[in-house]
Amino acid sequence: MPETSEHSAAAGHRFDTVLIANRGEIAVRIQRACRELGLKTVAICSEADREAPYGSTADSFLCIGPSSAAKSYLNQDAILLAARLVGAGAIHPGYGFLSENAAFADAVEKAGLIFIGPTASSIAIMGDKISAKRAMMAAGVPCVPGPDTALPDDPAAVERIALEIGYPVIIKAAGGGGGRGMRVVPKADLLHEAIALTREEARKAFGSPSLYMEKFLEHPRHIEIQVICDDHGNAAWLGHRDCSMQRRHQKVVEEAPAAGIAPDIIQPVGMACVQACLQIGYRGVGTFEFLYEDGAFYFIEMNTRLQVEHPVTELTSGVDIVQAQIRVAQGRVLDLTQGDVTCEGHSFECRINAEDPESFLPSAGVVTHLALPAGPGIRVDTHIHAGYKVSPYYDSLIAKLIVHAPTRAEAMARMREALAGIEVEGISTNIPFLRALFEDGAFARGETGIHYLEQWLKLRRAA
Ligand code: ADP
Repeated sequence: MPETSEHSAAAGHRFDTVLIANRGEIAVRIQRACRELGLKTVAICSEADREAPYGSTADSFLCIGPSSAAKSYLNQDAILLAARLVGAGAIHPGYGFLSENAAFADAVEKAGLIFIGPTASSIAIMGDKISAKRAMMAAGVPCVPGPDTALPDDPAAVERIALEIGYPVIIKAAGGGGGRGMRVVPKADLLHEAIALTREEARKAFGSPSLYMEKFLEHPRHIEIQVICDDHGNAAWLGHRDCSMQRRHQKVVEEAPAAGIAPDIIQPVGMACVQACLQIGYRGVGTFEFLYEDGAFYFIEMNTRLQVEHPVTELTSGVDIVQAQIRVAQGRVLDLTQGDVTCEGHSFECRINAEDPESFLPSAGVVTHLALPAGPGIRVDTHIHAGYKVSPYYDSLIAKLIVHAPTRAEAMARMREALAGIEVEGISTNIPFLRALFEDGAFARGETGIHYLEQWLKLRRAA
């Protein structure tokens, strides 16, 4: 698209150097996007990551603290100081760490830098699940049945809410995250104890005792919608993903599009997400997460950042989501309209983790041999190489294996082939488990919900 005054960066948004406040594969991914946009990059690291390969490819590389994430990747002052030292104009938070920290987004902007993400107030609204639900209900996004207010203290009032929703219900912490701070209540006599336990947990883990209640859906799929918005009132959704393959609420395999969902069913949901973004003045990339059961969608939360699984949408939509995210942070007008978005083919992503394939315990150590698959429709996002030392301090994700093919069946075959070709030695990985999963009949038929993987693992252990 030609550079017109409308498409050039707005004054005040201009930056030519991006500090990437993250590590691992996403630091590599963001660095690539910056270089392709002609931007300089600053990599940061903790002491444990001094040898990180993306350090040598960045324009500047700074060690900002000790190995503990709390003292390095979560150390806001150290990151802001690093940005000032090297003259960075913007900070990309990646995912995890400070990516959904409203106070950090605010501190970045107050320091006169651009936070590559939404405004601090959008992050704060979506970070509280009750206010997120309220905003979504107001915008016409379908939500799980249950009030958009915190549970009252009065026991009789709480009982009435549960009866109105109908058992089973789920008690959730407003500030919860990472699959914690939730409790399912199958029947009335367990209600008060569940509330007391969850409230205590919420107070300790999230610093707020605020809880809410909603219907517990028994056999849903996890379907999510990717959005991108600019600062000029333009927003689009880039299709949908299925992330039902979860272990302990952690996604293991993701795909785009979600299998077997007719366009006329998903279309209004995607448009409702776009409307919600416009209504709350959302900027940047985001993901609306839904549970999908018996043909209906129920909003559960919005992630106000880039997702681990963004590549499956990149391969089906053809949109470079990280580049688009950076461009809108520069104040540029979104260079696509909803009509331009066409999703083609099918994509899968496997998260390759450094962990034991049976016990799932993390595995640290040196990668002694690495062979990565290649060929048409195969992409590997990783930061590791032969000789790389996987440290015990951080998330166990060492690579993402992503494939794209014209149909779901062909994409599955391509993933089987890619998984057969990947070799990682010296540490344990979940590759054997992923190979077995891609041979599973129910998964191949696209019939699996959020509980499937746990049940499949239980059966495998029993066999
Ligand atoms: P977190 O922020 O901790 O990830 P979410 O609200 O996204 O919490 O929920 C995480 C997971 O918990 C969902 O993917 C789903 O498996 C389960 N879950 C959450 N709400 C419900 C519900 N109302 N009914 C059934 N399962 C739910």
